[in-house]
This record gives sequence, C-alpha cells and structure tokens, in this order.
Amino acid sequence: MSKSLSRREFLKGAAAGAAGLCASGFLSACADINVPEAESKTSDSTETAVAETTESPETTAAAAPVSNSGDYVLNAKNYNQTKWSFEIPPEPIPDSEIKETIEHDIIIIGAGMAGLVTMCSAMEKGADCYMFSASTRPYSRGGSNHAIGSKYQKAKGVKYDPEIAREIVKAEQTAGTYFMDKKKWERWINNSAESIDWTIDKMAAKGLKASLEPGYWDPDGTLTVPHASHNFYNDEQPFGALFGAPMQAQAYADTITDDYHGTIEYETVAKYLIRENNNTGRVSAVVAQRKDGSYVKYVGRKAIVMATGDFSTNHDMMAKYSPWAYEIFKDQLKTETNYDSGLDYDGLMPGDGQKMGLWVGAAWQKTFPNAPMINGGVSGPAHAVISNFWGLNVDIHGNRFQNEVTNFAYGAISLLQLPERTAYGIWGENYAYTQKEWEPFGHCIDEENGIKAYTPEEYIEQWKSRYMHSDTIEGLVDQFDMSEEDKKNCIETIKRYDQYARNGLDEEYHVNPDVLYPIEGPYYASKNTGATFLTVCGGLRTNEKMQVCDANDKPIEGLYNTGIMTGDFYANTYNFVMPGQNLGAVCGTLSYLLGRDLAEL
Ligand SMILES: Cc1cc2nc3c(=O)[nH]c(=O)nc-3n(C[C@H](O)[C@H](O)[C@H](O)COP(=O)(O)OP(=O)(O)OC[C@H]3O[C@@H](n4cnc5c(N)ncnc54)[C@H](O)[C@@H]3O)c2cc1C
Repeated sequence: MSKSLSRREFLKGAAAGAAGLCASGFLSACADINVPEAESKTSDSTETAVAETTESPETTAAAAPVSNSGDYVLNAKNYNQTKWSFEIPPEPIPDSEIKETIEHDIIIIGAGMAGLVTMCSAMEKGADCYMFSASTRPYSRGGSNHAIGSKYQKAKGVKYDPEIAREIVKAEQTAGTYFMDKKKWERWINNSAESIDWTIDKMAAKGLKASLEPGYWDPDGTLTVPHASHNFYNDEQPFGALFGAPMQAQAYADTITDDYHGTIEYETVAKYLIRENNNTGRVSAVVAQRKDGSYVKYVGRKAIVMATGDFSTNHDMMAKYSPWAYEIFKDQLKTETNYDSGLDYDGLMPGDGQKMGLWVGAAWQKTFPNAPMINGGVSGPAHAVISNFWGLNVDIHGNRFQNEVTNFAYGAISLLQLPERTAYGIWGENYAYTQKEWEPFGHCIDEENGIKAYTPEEYIEQWKSRYMHSDTIEGLVDQFDMSEEDKKNCIETIKRYDQYARNGLDEEYHVNPDVLYPIEGPYYASKNTGATFLTVCGGLRTNEKMQVCDANDKPIEGLYNTGIMTGDFYANTYNFVMPGQNLGAVCGTLSYLLGRDLAEL
C-alpha cells in the first residue's frame, strides 16, 4: 500500500488534487489550503521520498495525502495540519516605515455600535480612550435593541424582567443546544435594564426618541416574547427598526467627540497586533494603515479592544467556520472589502479582528459552526412582523413540509432544506379578517412614530399588487412553476388543508386550531426562493469579561473584543426568537459593561 513520491511530485499532485476538490465543491476555497510542509518531506532532503510504511491503509493515507488519481486526500490524521491563508500572519512593517506612534490607555478598533458603546461607556467614567476605524464614519445597520426590563417598557406597561425572561432564555439556550457561553448571557440578562436605560438617556440627549417594536405571540407559547426590541428614531426618520442604528451610532460618536472630547480617526485599517515577548506576553499595540498609505502604531497602555465586526465577506473564513451557510450563500456574498457596509444583504466585514487575534495566539470559539443570521421563510399575511406565513405552505411538488406556525428565521431554515429552496404560501381573502389590524415591519407600540397598522381592507389592496391571485384555486395554482402532476397534487393539498381547518384538526402537521383558517376565494399566493443573509456571528474565544483567550481559555493580557465578533454567544443559527439580541446584548450591554470595566483598569 505504500507509495513513494518526490517532494516535487507531491506538491504537483497536491495542487492538482486541491483543484479537483475545489471543483467538486469539497474545499470551497482552494487558494487557502497550504499543504503542510511536515508531510511533504522527510529528513533534510527536499527530494526524499515519503517513508515506506507497514502500517494499515488508514495510517498510510495520513502519511501520503495524495491518492493514485492525484487527489489531495484529507483524513482524521492530517486534516487539521492544513493551514488556511488567513491563519498566516503578514510580515511586520519595518519600524522605519511607521510614521507616527499614538499612545493612550485604551485603543478601540472599529466605529460600529459595539466599539462606540464601549468607548462612550469607558470615557463617561473617565478612561483615556482613542478610537480608529476603517470606515469613513460611525456605522451600524437595522435598529432593534432587545432589552429586558427597561424604564420605557415599564412606562408602557410591558412586563419583562429576568424572572419573566426565564422561559424564553431557556428555550433559546435549548435551541442552541447549550453550546453558547451561559456566563455571557447571565451578564447580559442581569445588566440589560441598566444598559438600555443608559442608552435611552444618551440618545435622548442627542434628540433621538425611544420606541418599542411588537413582540411575538405564538399560539403554542414556545416562541412568545413580549415587546422587547427598542429602537431609536426622530421626526425626520421615524422608521427606527430599520434605520435607527446608524442614527444611534452617530449619537454615540457625537457624545464621544463633543461631550467627552475623545478622538475617532476614520479610514484607518488595523493590520496586525503586537504581542510582546515573542507573541507570548501582553498585547500592547496595533499597527494600522491610513488612507494615504502611511503606517501608524497605536499603543494601548492598558488595553486594545477589537470591535471590527463579522467575517461574512471573507470567503475562506466562511468556508471554514460556517460551511453550511457558505454553501448556500457563497454566490451572493461580495468578494470586495467594504468597511462602510451598512444595510447590506451580501455580507459585511472581512474578519480582520478575528484574523489579528489568531495571529497572536487567540483560539477560535468552541461552538461550531459559527451561527449565521438568516431570515425570510414563506411570505404572506403575517400575524407577527417577524413570522413565517402561518397559513398553508407547500413545496414545488405541492406538498406541505412543516407546521407553518413559526418565525421567519426558522421558516427560512425549513425553506432552505426544500427542493430548489422554493416554497409557496397560499391563502384566501378571508385570511385578512382573522385579525382586526395587521402590523407592518417598523410598526411600534407608540403611535406617534407614524408607522400605522393596516385594516383588513387596506391589507387586501396591497396583496393585489404584491402576490399572485385568482378567483379560483385552479387559476391560482396554474401560475405556479410546477409540473401538471404537481399542480394537481397542490390543489388536493389546498382542499385537504381547507377541510382540516373546517374540522378544527390538522391531521398532518397539527397546526394549532386557533390559527387554522379555511381557504376561501378569491385566492392569493406568494412564491419564495432562498433566504436573506444578514451576517455571521462570533469568532475568537472570549470570556464573560470580553477578554480574548487562548486555547487553554487563558486571557491574552491586554486584548479584548466585543460586538458581533464575540465568540460563543450564539449557536446553530441566530433565530430572532429574541429579536434585536445582537444590538441589545453583545453590542449593547456587554460593550457597556466592558467600557465600565476598562475604566476601572
Ligand atoms: C441589514 C441588516 C440589518 C440588521 N439589523 C439588526 C437589528 O436590527 N438588530 C440587531 O441586533 N442586529 C442587526 N443586524 C446585525 C448587525 O450587523 C450587528 O448586530 C451589529 O451591527 C454589529 O455591530 P459591530 O459593532 O459588532 O460591528 P460593525 O457594525 O460591523 O462595525 C465594525 C466596525 O469596524 C470597522 N473595521 C472593520 N475592520 C477594521 C479594521 N481592520 N481596522 C479598523 N476598523 C475596522 C468597520 O469599518 C466598522 O466601522 C443587522 C444586520 C444586517 C446586515
């Protein structure tokens, strides 16, 4: 079974093999696989053959990773000896090329929500901070900040505190199969009210009003959550749920510069960290490049905080750390770097902070894969703004595939499992009258913000331009991209569902009878393909104090990270059961606490 190969043959074979694997979709990013040097030579000769062996075929495969057909073969012994290009640090910039050194107690990298909250919180308590960011201005996207027990919730009569949150927290942690770090969750839950109240005051000081988005009512109780997503808006921009975060970020930046006289330097890209003592001591500085090409060294006397966002536009990192999401979304993720990515659905940041951490010995988070943030599902009249369409859902063969009563993230995951990742939602006009009014996305419980709920009649008017419709079931289904046989099956499915509703018993998927409605004409349908990608969560191993840790869970002195890049806060997928958890928890509360802790250093 043994096979001798010269180093030159080996490397040639490895390259061809890697290309083959790429073509077959096995290694999505072949440019990044580095064949491990240790496997390609023995003793000191570059032309020496791989040692002859009498070991079993499995063991032999580990020693000779090139198959007879020239494919590069991974197995349990060699797979983790490969290196991806992002794991290899760049050459350091010579001191002579570093034009300036800037020294402060705390250096914060990245002017997204997390970095800004950290700096604002630390400076309020007197810390000496300096921020630089690759973006051209303060940045954020969306606007929903989940919080538990704010003064605003109390004023509006919304009952929500850590005790009331127990059920939903347990459901969420179960959904993540307990992979996530419960210590970080505990810090968030118990300090959420304090930090959101602080945010409400900070925003009010800059002219932004608070608003509360609708919660989610689940007839089965499992996904029910009260009004908990706070957003911030003003009269010019009342749509805080989608456009509030950039205004919130700007308000923090203004507080930092105008009220605390801090500095935020833009268009400056962090390149690598400096860890003393030959990469074993404290992280004391970061080298960055300004727009004019010059290099600058920022020395953090007490801490360097990375708040550089996600890694969704780094295809190699996505392929390694979030492979199933990458397989689905790789064609829509952008390949160029845009440090100003805002309300983008094609990926955000290139993972610079995560890479810089790896280069100085940080470990990757324990939870695998990294949780993507995805939503969509089947569209149609939505009982809750973030719901999957609760009426009849069918696949391209006209068959049902789930209990439809779920939210739009879980609905999206179901849809992505279907043939052609396509599903139809089907309902009758009577559906409009199953509730008195319909809340659109952006609607909030305080009426003054101007986003109104729709009456059934207003809603039906919108359906006519938005969805397929017909006076007959046959006329509706005829518009579907289905074979004639599947159309017939679909019509049968519609009639069967209608009968279940009339009987008050869904014999297939057991939809709660309270929301099981007959399908009466005129008829409407939506066609839904794929899902919406927003971001990917996590990165470096991070303890509850936001210290970046090594493979032994030991904090790397001087190095912190926060925001969406925080490791082990989410598992499986981000599921919107606690909507706005990202801005509320890792970018909000945990960053606020980090600022307080840094000020104490
Ligand atoms: C369309 C959309 C809507 C969303 N809506 C919501 C929502 O309503 N609620 C919610 O909780 N979550 C939402 N999210 C998720 C949201 O992206 C995150 O919760 C949050 O914005 C992440 O903030 P952050 O500060 O960690 O990172 P970012 O906002 O990405 O900020 C990172 C900052 O670091 C800078 N940076 C990156 N690399 C470098 C470098 N090498 N050197 C220097 N600076 C660097 C960037 O330029 C940027 O300024 C949404 C996502 C999308 C795509």
